This record gives sequence, C-alpha cells and structure tokens, in this order.
Amino acid sequence: MKRKWLLSLLCCAILCFSLSPLHVAAANTVEQQNAADERMRLYIGASALSNIPWEYFAAIDQYERTMSKLHKHDQDESLIAIRVAERRWSGAFNPSENDENVTAIRFFDGFGRDGDGDGRADRTNGADTLQALAEWLMRYGASEQELRIGLWDYYENLRSVQRIMQFAEVYRAYRTIDVHESVFPLPVTAHYTYRSTWGAARGWGGRRIHEGTDLFAPYGVPVRSTNFGVIETIGWNKFGGWRVGIRDINNVYHYFAHLSGFEKTLAIGDTVKPGTVVGWVGSSGYGPPGTSGKFPPHLHYGTYRDHGMSDWAFDPFPKLRASERAEKSKR
Ligand SMILES: [Zn+2]
Repeated sequence: MKRKWLLSLLCCAILCFSLSPLHVAAANTVEQQNAADERMRLYIGASALSNIPWEYFAAIDQYERTMSKLHKHDQDESLIAIRVAERRWSGAFNPSENDENVTAIRFFDGFGRDGDGDGRADRTNGADTLQALAEWLMRYGASEQELRIGLWDYYENLRSVQRIMQFAEVYRAYRTIDVHESVFPLPVTAHYTYRSTWGAARGWGGRRIHEGTDLFAPYGVPVRSTNFGVIETIGWNKFGGWRVGIRDINNVYHYFAHLSGFEKTLAIGDTVKPGTVVGWVGSSGYGPPGTSGKFPPHLHYGTYRDHGMSDWAFDPFPKLRASERAEKSKR
C-alpha cells in the first residue's frame, strides 16, 4: 500500500517536472538546435552535389520561410520551407498533378527529384526539394552572376533574387545559420527617452503618418545595428537626412534616420551584426543634403516587412521594449 502511494507521488513529480515552463523551454531550444543542425546537413549535402556554396541553399530556404510565414499558409514547421508549385514539380503536361514517380516527372520535364534515395520525388520532402533546386541551378553555373540568372529564371522577381543574395552574404560572412540575435539600437547605458509614437501625424513633406519610433538622445550617441543583416541603403535622403537601412535575415528592413553622420567604412552590401555602430544620433534631414537642426536630436527608427512586391511598415516599439529589457537584465 505504502509503495503504491510512493509510486504515484513519483509519477506526479515526473509529470510536474515535464510540464514546467522551464523544462518546455529547454526542450524547445534543443529541438530548435536539432532542426538547425539537420537543415545545415541538408544544405551541405546539396552543396556537395552541385558545387554551389551552401549559403545559397540556406538563403533560398530562409527567404521562403519568411514569405510563407507572412502569407500564413504552410504554417507547418517543416525543416525546409522551400515549396515548388505542384505543376512545376510534376511537369506542365503531366496528367498526374501530384506525381512522385521520378521517371514520369523526368519524362514530363518536371522539376521534382529524389534526394533522399527512397525512390520517390516528394515535394514536401526537404532533401528532394533541395536536390531538385540544386539540379536546376547547376544548369546555370555556380558563380554569383550565374546564380543570379538561375534565381531570376526561377522566381521571375528581382526582389526575391536580391533578398536571397543578401541572406547568402550574411551566412557567408558569419559561417553559421544561427544569426537571430538582436539588440537595442542605442547603448542601454546612454541617456535616451522614447515612447510609442506609431501613426502620429507629422508636419514636414505633406500629410504622412509617423512610421516608426523616435528615440531622443544627445548628439553623438552611437547608433547600432539591431540585427545581423546587410546594408541596403546608406547616405542622404531628404526626409531622413543621413540614414542607414539594413535588411535582416527575417526579411525586415531597419531604417535609422536623422543621424549626425554614418560610419564611413560601411557601404551597400556590407554585413553587420547586432551592436555594429552604423552612425551617431543627430538632427539631419527635412531638406537638401547637410540640412540639420530643424528639430531636437533623435534617432528615428523604422521597421518594414517585405511583402513580396513592396515593404510595409510595422510598429517597432514592442520589439524595442523587449530588446531593451533583455539587454538591461544581462548587465
Ligand atoms: Zn521619427
């Protein structure tokens, strides 16, 4: 009797432990790490087969992941997010739209291939998709210029090609796909104030709403890249003054404006990581190059998500609060 009671107590303890948030969080991280390792293994496999550097496969996969998350379809956490349309996969004149037969797909000049050696070309299988993509790109060649052409033929969208090239640059520079860390744009030890100003009206340049958050700080406070990414724009803009735009690996464009100046060693296409100083707080803008002092010094920080054909602004405030809190708690 006593033993039975002890046993149930033990079961309860195990159950409680396995349901505790801490345990769940740890399991998620291990799971995410395993998924990342498995992805990397597949990218390297596709690279070995095609001589195309692994970072391009990683970049195509990440690009499609950001797009499928956006359009809310394909929410399954598939290892590889690349999805080839059924018609393209099986071949335009293939009477069987969901064909997985390798010979039939080849006969109808379909895109599908068998990458994991199970004899089937399954368009939801990551290894099969990567194999098919590798064979497609190999027709063009493995140089950057040839890959651009191959990707253009595949997506028929210049923005898609640009994003994939940018992501590949980040992976190449940091030799990892673990590039999701983020920080606050100003040193958290600096004097600054900010509040949510999303959608507020503003005066200069016609009727525009305020798309971003203003962080008020003294002249010269360093402005840092919040994420891993690539410099997409740098220089003067009549609204933003001296400004820097960075595309991150989640396909978000980060806009840092009204700087007193930007880091002169940086150029379009350069990679940055969280904390890289890109410029300094100022009051430039609202006029021709060099205009300054029309308003108090502050960093205007905006975030825009790529919606395929254009970028849409979204409120950076919640993310700012979260990264500020996380960084302060680390100190
Ligand atoms: Zn602003």
